[in-house]
Amino acid sequence: MIHSTFSKGGIHPAACKTTLSGIEALPLPRRAVVPLQQHIGAPARPIVAKGDSVRRGQLIAEAPYAMSAAVHAPVSGTVAALEDALMPDGRRRPCIVITADEATHDADETERMRYWLAIDSMATPDVDADTIKRRVARAGIVGMGGATFPSAIKLAPRDKVDLLIINGCECEPFLTCDDALMRAYPAKIIAGVQMMMKATAIDRAVIAIEDNKPEAAAALAAHAVSAAGVEVKILRTKYPQGGERQLIDAVSGRKVPSGAIPSAVGVIVHNVATAFAVWQAVSTDMPLIERVISISGDIPADQRRNYRAAIGTPFAEIPFTLPPDADTKIILGGPMMGKCTVTLDAPVTKGTSGITVLTDARRQPLMPCIRCGACVDACPMGLEPYLLETYGRLRRWDDARAADVADCIECGSCSWSCPSRRPLLDYIRRAKNRCRQR
Ligand code: SF4
Ligand code: SF4
Repeated sequence: MIHSTFSKGGIHPAACKTTLSGIEALPLPRRAVVPLQQHIGAPARPIVAKGDSVRRGQLIAEAPYAMSAAVHAPVSGTVAALEDALMPDGRRRPCIVITADEATHDADETERMRYWLAIDSMATPDVDADTIKRRVARAGIVGMGGATFPSAIKLAPRDKVDLLIINGCECEPFLTCDDALMRAYPAKIIAGVQMMMKATAIDRAVIAIEDNKPEAAAALAAHAVSAAGVEVKILRTKYPQGGERQLIDAVSGRKVPSGAIPSAVGVIVHNVATAFAVWQAVSTDMPLIERVISISGDIPADQRRNYRAAIGTPFAEIPFTLPPDADTKIILGGPMMGKCTVTLDAPVTKGTSGITVLTDARRQPLMPCIRCGACVDACPMGLEPYLLETYGRLRRWDDARAADVADCIECGSCSWSCPSRRPLLDYIRRAKNRCRQR
């Protein structure tokens, strides 16, 4: 059977999904660094002060603005500081630092273990749409595929929507956190999808999975049989299938116009991990205080793992050995759309899907453009990357805007395709940012 995919552009980088299967619990941190802004929108507002005692799961920063998300304590302990802490990009951002003592740490670990051991037997309550939306907002859930858009807002679309798409593609090379989650908790994900359908009054949901994840697709399909209106659709593996516009095209054939959002064509898209978090929040009153991350790349094979990690865990506490290579890159996320971190002191946040370590990441000498058109063929947005790169390099911002640089989804397919190894995305991103600022 030939599976469908999106219609324009796309590439086929090596999958490199070599992480060991299964999800392991990473120990809770003794010192959690919890950023106030782990989402698109205004930072959350702290409601605790230095010296306060907090319990694991307690609200520590509220979301008083329209576009924001609540933040909860990932560990029990004492608020040690409200301070600007180092983030992956090297900048400092407002955080709440919580330190755990021996007793609270052990009690948290015991409670956490009990929760995860019992999760399969936990029931799904029958609650109304308003209750679902309220609990999702209260739990501080954001899009966990990387977009970090507050989920409660997405569950209240202004446009008329008739299709919910759940993104289980995980098209980035190396990453396996969503795959592991789909294999481990298919019934809960389906229940979370049904909650999203009820909250938005949508009758049809499609869980989209690429054909390189047969186990996850089979697990979800087995549970979808008894869920009215929910189907699993297998897509032909192609990058960047997980891009919202590409996924909507692949699943429904609908095209989101330039500058519009998916609800303009009657669709909302959520990630599988978000669906699971929704189920947790609504069924068990669990806020978003931990998530699955995958650790992969050029590290020993037995260190490539999927962990359930508490938000606020410093990357330095994740067990992996960096290779002794001066050109090693530590990328947050996958190699295509991820960004390098400049420090291992930065913490896991709601949007952290994983860490990919790459050696020999030194830039190759670049050659002149040979007008081969490979970047144009690869672009899933139908842009002319070689032209946008030129505009970005020459600071021709008006020309870049006229050439629709704002439509670039920063997927990197153009740079990956270029035989002259030109850093197309670097200049395109620069032009895009400048146009946005102006
Ligand atoms: S990074 Fe932008 S310009 Fe390059 S292929 Fe992706 S969408 Fe097109
Ligand atoms: S792929 Fe590279 S060499 Fe080919 S047209 Fe694009 S920028 Fe030029």
